[in-house]
Amino acid sequence: MNVTRTRIITRGLAGHCPNCGGHTLFKPGALFSVNEQCARCGLKFDRGEGFFLGPWVFNYTATVVVFIVPVVLLCVHGVIATRTALAAAGAAAILVPMALYRLSWSWWLMTYFYFLPQKLPENQDALHEDEEE
Ligand SMILES: [Zn+2]
Repeated sequence: MNVTRTRIITRGLAGHCPNCGGHTLFKPGALFSVNEQCARCGLKFDRGEGFFLGPWVFNYTATVVVFIVPVVLLCVHGVIATRTALAAAGAAAILVPMALYRLSWSWWLMTYFYFLPQKLPENQDALHEDEEE
């Protein structure tokens, strides 16, 4: 394989294309607009119907586990007032998904290709070369 799982992880954590490492996941100047495919290598980022649910699940899980649950627990144990907890949870429910939007797409692509590295075009070329030998 040309692109190893380690390389897929490092590219995913950096927010780069898992196939070529290009910084091409998002449209330039747009915060929340994912490119359909990599401008450098042509890898399709949206892998088909329902693929967008992967980043959504990452984003939702991070928001609930890291922000909402601690606020609720602090409120339940009387550390913070109910109004404060509602305001903090409401703000977190809006702001955290926005902040994690780009990372959640990158992490989802990283996870997808970590388990299916043979789906990367760079690795398919390597597979065909192996077959010819
Ligand atoms: Zn690429």
